[in-house]
Amino acid sequence: MLGNMMFQPLLISSMIEHAGRYHADTQVISKNTDTNMTITNWGEVHQNSKRFANALSALGLAHADRVATIAWNNHRHLESWYAISGSGLVCHTINPRLFPEQLVFIINDASDRVVLFDKTFTPLIKAVKPLLTKVEHFICLDAADDAIREAIPEVKFYDDLIAEQPATFDWPLLNENAASSLCYTSGTTGHPKGVLYSHRSTVLHSYGIIMPDSLNLSAREIMLPVVPMFHVNAWGTPYAAAMVGCTLVLPGPGLDGASLVSLIDTYKVSVALGVPTIWQGLIAAAMQSGSTLESLKRNVVGGSACPPSMLKTFKEQFNCETIHAWGMTETSPLGSANQIKAKHLGLSEEERFNLRLSQGRPPFGVDLRLTDAENGTHEIARDGVTTGNLQIKGSWILNNYFGKEESALTADGWFDTGDIATLDADGFLKISDRSKDLIKSGGEWISSVDLENMAMGHPEIAMAAVIAAEHPKWDERPILIAIKKPESQLTEEEVLEFYADKVAKWQIPDKVIFVDAIPLSGTGKMLKKDLREQFGRVLLES
Ligand code: ADP
Repeated sequence: MLGNMMFQPLLISSMIEHAGRYHADTQVISKNTDTNMTITNWGEVHQNSKRFANALSALGLAHADRVATIAWNNHRHLESWYAISGSGLVCHTINPRLFPEQLVFIINDASDRVVLFDKTFTPLIKAVKPLLTKVEHFICLDAADDAIREAIPEVKFYDDLIAEQPATFDWPLLNENAASSLCYTSGTTGHPKGVLYSHRSTVLHSYGIIMPDSLNLSAREIMLPVVPMFHVNAWGTPYAAAMVGCTLVLPGPGLDGASLVSLIDTYKVSVALGVPTIWQGLIAAAMQSGSTLESLKRNVVGGSACPPSMLKTFKEQFNCETIHAWGMTETSPLGSANQIKAKHLGLSEEERFNLRLSQGRPPFGVDLRLTDAENGTHEIARDGVTTGNLQIKGSWILNNYFGKEESALTADGWFDTGDIATLDADGFLKISDRSKDLIKSGGEWISSVDLENMAMGHPEIAMAAVIAAEHPKWDERPILIAIKKPESQLTEEEVLEFYADKVAKWQIPDKVIFVDAIPLSGTGKMLKKDLREQFGRVLLES
């Protein structure tokens, strides 16, 4: 017997309808590519999304056609998202910092028919355009501009397109499993692969991230997603924001510390999200300007491990609670978030701090387990000590990659993340490393993340990467690549001494190399693959 309840498909259009109806006057604050601010609201975002849906339909696009976006976090980009997915097309967000060859590959692989782009990316579009075999329309997410027209003669302008259209549009009643958006993995460890989300997975993921034990979002928050909309859909925040009707502050291209401090202080941001490298910039800028980031109640750190020193600084210097979260493109991304349980309230300050360093526990909607082999099915203990291959399953987890028939899952239906971790009985997850970054020294494993976190605790180190270097006797040994803080005279010996009381002797890096810069991926992660190519043989040479 079936239940007698209404069936309402879980659709992205219902989120913008909700925000437009019930949160119409709640602000959406956006920094444009020319750094001017636009202050709009959910009512206008809703109306413009319908105008743009009309414009897309006038271009003759068919259901499930892909529309690419190469843009920063701004209000036009937000409107276009709802227009594209809401009208049954697929929104393909692209990381503009990819190498041009990768960019061409994924646009062609996705068969994108339209490319939307921010004015800043005009030279990039001009350069790759002849190689984009399937793109029919280029739309600049800005007002008309002659310089852009000169570079891309067939360009259309977003503002012109929506000006011609009415703000009425009947969102189609789609199958909730229909494709809604497409993100490629950023290729930190391999070739980019497409992950095709559905309306249903997106709506359920939004419920997942707003919950109190996840990001605890509500209509009372002012949220700043520093994480770009092309990085796993800004971790789903533009959808969640419409679902709860919070104020949204979109930082445009200004992701440097000083710009972020100014946005937080001016618009009284209460919750912000980003990768660790973003927060490093923010902390330095706030300390320099003397800002206490007074409005910021919490920040979400994910994408790479949050160094303990960062969590401490946010708490002690800025009275800001850090939520450490873990996820990946294949998981929409929320896989876990760190919020403590009632039984932890009585813990000592230090015990609680240690607990909060972990990547947290899974929200309802996803499940985690550890196995003793990559892609294996034999589960191992959830004892908080034994490490294993982290696997995940749930309502917003990938089944198969875009364009690939074969399942990406284990024989019993779990997705193997490629991360090595521990889990405890409460589900608290601690990522030791990515399997590709682990250092295998004489049959023992050393976590590069642990050694990096320790180095980051040194007051004179600005950034640290630990990689495996080939070794004639031990196969691999850890070496530390570090950037010193300005004016530091730190020496290799001092750093190695710093490790002495923190880690077993055999885990101390064999070498410290100071550099001026560490290569970062388009999403702000350290490119250890590149570092291994550059420094991976230094121990053989010495
Ligand atoms: P890419 O694989 O190109 O880096 P993703 O953004 O999908 O792109 O990266 C997901 C990976 O990032 C995870 O598998 C994990 O290794 C790492 N990661 C994400 N969040 C954290 C975190 N809080 N701590 C440690 N590693 C993390």
